[in-house]
Order: sequence, then C-alpha cells, then structure tokens
Amino acid sequence: MVTAVYPGTFDPITGGHEDIVRRGARMYSRVVVGVAHSRGKNPLFEPEERLAIAREALADLPNVDVVSFSGLMVDFARRHGATVALRGVRSVTDFDYEVQLAGMNRLMLPGLESVLLVASERYQFVSGTLVREIALMGGEIDRFVSPKVAQHLRAKVASRKQG
Ligand code: ADP
Repeated sequence: MVTAVYPGTFDPITGGHEDIVRRGARMYSRVVVGVAHSRGKNPLFEPEERLAIAREALADLPNVDVVSFSGLMVDFARRHGATVALRGVRSVTDFDYEVQLAGMNRLMLPGLESVLLVASERYQFVSGTLVREIALMGGEIDRFVSPKVAQHLRAKVASRKQG
C-alpha cells in the first residue's frame, strides 16, 4: 500500500492539477492532496475556500483525500505516512524548480520519493496564475477548469467587483 501526497497552492484547482490527481490515483492506493496555506503567495481564494473547491472537484475519487496544511511539505508527507510526493511538470522551467525541490526534500526526508508526472497535452499551458488573471479580466476559463471550479471563480470575481 503506497500513499502519495500531492501538495500545492491550488488557487483554485485547475484541470491540469485534477489530471495529475486522477493519474496519481490510478498509480497509488491513496493520494492525499495537500492544499498549502501559501500566505506569501497572496492567493485569490482563502485556504478554506481552496480546500472546499478541491474537495468538490475530486469528490468522485474514492482513494483521494483533500486536506489543508501549512509548513513543510516533508512534514505533511510524514504525517500521512506517504512515501511518494507527486508533482506535475509542464516545461523546462517547472522541471528546474521541481528538481531543486525534490533534491531539498530528499535531504530532509530520504524516505520520500518525488515522482514528476508530465502534464497532459491538453493542460500543458494551463497555469493557476493565468487562469486567475483571465477570470479577473472577464475572460472565458471553462476550458481550463472543471465546471464547478469555473462557477467559484466567477462568483469570486463578481464579489470582488462589488467589494
Ligand atoms: P505550488 O505553489 O506548490 O507550485 P501549484 O498549485 O501551483 O502549487 O502546483 C502544484 C503542482 O502542480 C506543481 O508541481 C505544478 O508544477 C503542478 N501543475 C500546475 N499546473 C499544472 C498543469 N497544468 N499540468 C500539470 N501539472 C501542473
């Protein structure tokens, strides 16, 4: 039985993230998606919102749990008894960063293997940052996120305009 963690900011969870979780859930007995607080990144959605949105988007996957965490990814992995850390790679830029992260994490927790999944063609150019920007500028985001996530994004943009 292998437990994998998939940590990220998920602000909000995109089709690309979902794809990684769905593929990971076919590879490992359990996947724990960790929604990081990531306060330093100044996220659009609050941590509780990001958690609820990701839970809703992944509700059909019986071997996937979605939890929030703050602090180090290795501590989060250790708490859940995970031996695999899943990450997604879209480009050489992602790869560079992920290799560095994997190396540092291995120094801190040698029992945790980082597994990098190459983004599916359909989501290769999808990034949370761009999805947020497009949504905030009133653009069409339905191809990049699942329908419920798109609703949450539209509601957030509308509430910002009122505020
Ligand atoms: P972080 O703040 O840790 O980078 P993100 O939520 O941005 O968190 O991303 C979590 C993981 O998902 C990272 O490994 C990132 O490279 C990967 N990822 C992001 N977008 C995609 C995508 N479209 N396809 C595949 N992997 C992706």
